[in-house]
Amino acid sequence: MTAPAAPVVLGSSLSGLLVSLSLSRAGIEHVLIGGGEPAAIPRLGEALTDGASPELWRLFGREFPECFFHKSHISILDGHFATLIHLADPLRGKKRVAKFAPAQGKPRYPWFGEALFHLDRIAFDRAVYRKALAEPCCRFVTTRVSHLEFDAASDAVIRIDFSDGPPIERPRYVFDATGGMSLVARAARLAETPLGPAQRVVFTHFRRADAEPRPPEWWRHGTNLLRLDRDFDGLDAMAWLIPIGRTLSVGMSLDAEGEHGADDRGDLMARLDEAFRRRGLDYRPLYPDQQPIQDLRHRYSVRQRASGRNWLLVGGSFITIWFPSSTGLWTATAAAALAPRLLDRPDLGVWYEKTMRGLIPLHHVWDGLVRGPSFRSSLQVYRFLARGMHFIPRRIASYLRILDDAHGWFRPLGWLLTLVALVGSVVPPVMLFLGGFAVVRTRLAPDRMRQAAAFPLYFHSIVFRVWSLLRAVPHLLWAAIPRRGPLAGKPGLLRPPISETGPARSAAPPAS
Ligand SMILES: Cc1cc2nc3c(=O)[nH]c(=O)nc-3n(C[C@H](O)[C@H](O)[C@H](O)COP(=O)(O)OP(=O)(O)OC[C@H]3O[C@@H](n4cnc5c(N)ncnc54)[C@H](O)[C@@H]3O)c2cc1C
Repeated sequence: MTAPAAPVVLGSSLSGLLVSLSLSRAGIEHVLIGGGEPAAIPRLGEALTDGASPELWRLFGREFPECFFHKSHISILDGHFATLIHLADPLRGKKRVAKFAPAQGKPRYPWFGEALFHLDRIAFDRAVYRKALAEPCCRFVTTRVSHLEFDAASDAVIRIDFSDGPPIERPRYVFDATGGMSLVARAARLAETPLGPAQRVVFTHFRRADAEPRPPEWWRHGTNLLRLDRDFDGLDAMAWLIPIGRTLSVGMSLDAEGEHGADDRGDLMARLDEAFRRRGLDYRPLYPDQQPIQDLRHRYSVRQRASGRNWLLVGGSFITIWFPSSTGLWTATAAAALAPRLLDRPDLGVWYEKTMRGLIPLHHVWDGLVRGPSFRSSLQVYRFLARGMHFIPRRIASYLRILDDAHGWFRPLGWLLTLVALVGSVVPPVMLFLGGFAVVRTRLAPDRMRQAAAFPLYFHSIVFRVWSLLRAVPHLLWAAIPRRGPLAGKPGLLRPPISETGPARSAAPPAS
């Protein structure tokens, strides 16, 4: 009987490259199957969360610092509400941040968001591609998988055929990083559960000549989300606006089968442009150079299983959830960090699956925001945030377990975080009292043109948090007073719906 061949990584985009590099760091020889260097076109996955961000910064922050840009907040513009979640000091110093990417050893967890970033995916994917292929443990084969043979009895991939070149028989382990193709899942006939209707995504980059080190506009320091609604914008969609140095990433997702699912991509981007402008967020003069518009269709879903005897569905091959959660690269970094251990302990794949399945309720929380009615009161905003916040301690607990190779039953900090997450899932307001009020600022803008107005004290992180905390109680009490609607008594201040103002681009200037 011959020994099984080396582990194989299928797919050479970012997820596959991260797995490959993780195996190389552990000195494990492997085969990476893929194509050429990633193209220099706008790509998705630029906002990072509390798991992926510290991990990517820890691993690559020293080598490729030019790919990382501070992410200091998440803002949500929904209905007449503008909400800011202040995650980190926007003026944090380079030296402090560098501590979380030490040359040796593992840093402590960056609790105050110091290692939260946006990623320049064009530069990063290319840099990581070159690095992964240059590792002596990586044997890169430029080809495509044409067929996978799966043996259901042993729950293993037993042969991989390629469009050219010899097959690989009895691979030791297969990391499937083929994203939506999910080749192993197909070969194993695993069911795929859709988590919502098919989506169409249109997106692009806008550029400026230079990167300002400290731009004065608050929205140029974090992830900005916008819920477009048909009454005001003429269509329902979820959009993002992410500053990455001299680049601004802008795009939106809408139901592919919906009323506007077949619209021209240029028209959709023009509508989005207008939607931001009608909220007082006019980015075009600051970023005048528009890149080609990208267009894709996909569906959020989860596969029946994430792992088997000799295989793992990496990141998006297993699960994808609503993009505002920014969890895509968390699923990939988690898989990559576990990769070397999975070879001897395939049972860890079950832990991975359980952890990733924990994202499904988060998908539904976001689905309520993206596809449900717009916010009509501050209480609804706080409720949404409270429901979303308990996912954070759980995710950090999982990340710390992976980082410290501590999957055993006892880990005090992990338990504490999991307990907080559990209590928060049962009684969501607890999360607001556990620090949530300090980082949240929400305000009503009867005139939506004022939604992007400055958030006072944004650039004074500590004062911002203290003031937000002090302001929370009277704000909550004020919000709790029953009214017929949040804008009752102020109808004259409302911007009329788009149906009354004509097509998006010719909309009349806002009422003030
Ligand atoms: C609208 C949207 C916004 C997003 N925003 C974020 C975000 O803010 N933050 C975040 O973390 N994530 C985000 N994501 C997710 C993120 O884009 C992905 O997780 C990330 O890009 C990693 O993709 P991937 O490498 O797993 O898969 P892909 O990029 O899909 O790569 C799959 C690879 O498999 C290869 N392949 C396929 N078939 C074969 C075959 N037969 N043989 C060989 N190779 C094959 C392909 O060529 C490709 O290289 C977003 C996703 C969407 C849709």
